[in-house]
Amino acid sequence: MTRLEAWSVTVMRGGRRIVDAASVTRAAPGLTALIGPNGAGKSTLLMALAGLLRPEEGAVLLDGVPIAAIDRRTLARRRAYLPQNARCEWPISVERVVALGLTPTLPPFGGLPPSQRARVSEMLSQCDLAEKRDQPATTLSGGELARTMLARAMVGDPEVLIADEPIAGLDPRHALDAMRRLHACAGRGRLVITALHDITLAARYADHVLALKEGRIVADGPTAEILSPALLRDVFGVDARIEQGEFGLAVRFVEVA
Ligand code: ADP
Ligand code: MG
Repeated sequence: MTRLEAWSVTVMRGGRRIVDAASVTRAAPGLTALIGPNGAGKSTLLMALAGLLRPEEGAVLLDGVPIAAIDRRTLARRRAYLPQNARCEWPISVERVVALGLTPTLPPFGGLPPSQRARVSEMLSQCDLAEKRDQPATTLSGGELARTMLARAMVGDPEVLIADEPIAGLDPRHALDAMRRLHACAGRGRLVITALHDITLAARYADHVLALKEGRIVADGPTAEILSPALLRDVFGVDARIEQGEFGLAVRFVEVA
């Protein structure tokens, strides 16, 4: 069973504790929604959890091994990381971008084996990108690029998937599709941790919610147990109503007078 642990992780930037003594343990399977206001430290914490940033204090362990000590290729095979606002810097096709997600599992030379090509095609269809297969990724719309980048992160079916705001900028159908796929990924035994601002979708699809405020974890637990108007008020400073609707929980923020 895959287990990711952060022990008192502190990240300093500009003399400030951007992430302040954050401790969290997650074992697969499960989908965790990381919520918190802009600047709370979500992206920074996710980078530390992904082993892409070495915290000033504390440690991140993957199956008990300090993540910094894991060979980079092994780590790249085991966990995928989708940065916030992932960009494509040069014009390669959507298919190639998605196939890049398989790089850590491929031999250093030669073309894609047929099984991997099939996997890329399957991912393109799942993400509604089949028609975009040959289009340069630099010419995609913001939402199409976001879907391409999520497909790239998911194509290798990693044990640990860390996705920073994967549905930002997606239209409702594609946002729901993406959340369903992340949920299914957790259902297959994977560990998924994702920063989200859509609290309704977080409430509906996440098994756990981790709330971050000013670099500190202020709540961590099963979604149904901890997601409350009081928590949302504390974290976002906005009143909210949480209702059980036909399709699961619905969160409505109340207009501030
Ligand atoms: P979130 O993803 O929750 O919006 P981030 O992790 O991106 O937040 O950033 C957390 C905070 O760290 C922000 O307030 C940001 O301005 C600050 N920050 C990030 N890098 C630096 C830096 N190099 N110098 C000063 N502040 C920084
Ligand atoms: Mg962020």
